[in-house]
Amino acid sequence: MRADLHIHTTASDGCWGPERVVAEVQARSIGLFAVTDHDVIGNVAPVEALARKVGLAFLRGVEVSSWLGEHYFHILAYGFEADAHSFFALLRENRAKMMESNREVIHKLIARGYPIDPEDFEAYGYDRTRGGWKALNFLIDRGFCTGVKDYFENLKIGPSEIFRTFPHPAEVIAAIKEAGGVPVLAHPGATLKDAGVTAETLQPLLDFDIAGLECYHRHNDEATTRFCLDWCARHDLIVTVGSDCHGGLVDRELGFPPIDTADLRLGELEERIIH
Ligand SMILES: [Zn+2]
Ligand SMILES: [Zn+2]
Repeated sequence: MRADLHIHTTASDGCWGPERVVAEVQARSIGLFAVTDHDVIGNVAPVEALARKVGLAFLRGVEVSSWLGEHYFHILAYGFEADAHSFFALLRENRAKMMESNREVIHKLIARGYPIDPEDFEAYGYDRTRGGWKALNFLIDRGFCTGVKDYFENLKIGPSEIFRTFPHPAEVIAAIKEAGGVPVLAHPGATLKDAGVTAETLQPLLDFDIAGLECYHRHNDEATTRFCLDWCARHDLIVTVGSDCHGGLVDRELGFPPIDTADLRLGELEERIIH
């Protein structure tokens, strides 16, 4: 059975709402999937209901922001309980920080001399099926940038300037476990691009009790994937796959890389799958 355990929706920065996600999953013959929006679970219950209706295997998911050293760690949380209120409170705090980071981007640009009216930004809204986030869409609509690539390459506001307030990965991992969920490190090849994915750079996550790695992701090159698979086998950890698809926002095709559940190590995720 083909699996994709990392999909974004309109609840965070993806372009697809619940119906569209489920239709696209079906169209690609993906049998097991999870939606994992950034720090928000608004579309989890609606997608879960649709998945049950059409008979797709589903895992509740969310991609939790955390910060340590110079790294913006994304921790995927799977299979948490539906009433995990203290975990949901942490997500709400993270979401508020994410909104604040949008405001910070705008204020940094104003400080650099961009002719932006902060009140215009505060009042601004956008159609969620465009994907992306408030600052991105605002800057596109006001003619200051052309798209996601341009935003990151030309506005030059690094994550360390706006994401430092996210909680420590140890706190996030503990909260996920307390919620009955399973914490998996997303795209190690992207997060640890500069430091390298090694036993040494992964050791802190192991110390914090991470349950697995997203070994299959387009941002893990072949050597990284092999290393992660070996590292998970050595430590008896979970192996997952995710496309990180955001609908059409960025060029990340749903269901890619194409991996079968037989090639994963789902471990304790298995008992959390909703059929
Ligand atoms: Zn991520
Ligand atoms: Zn993601």
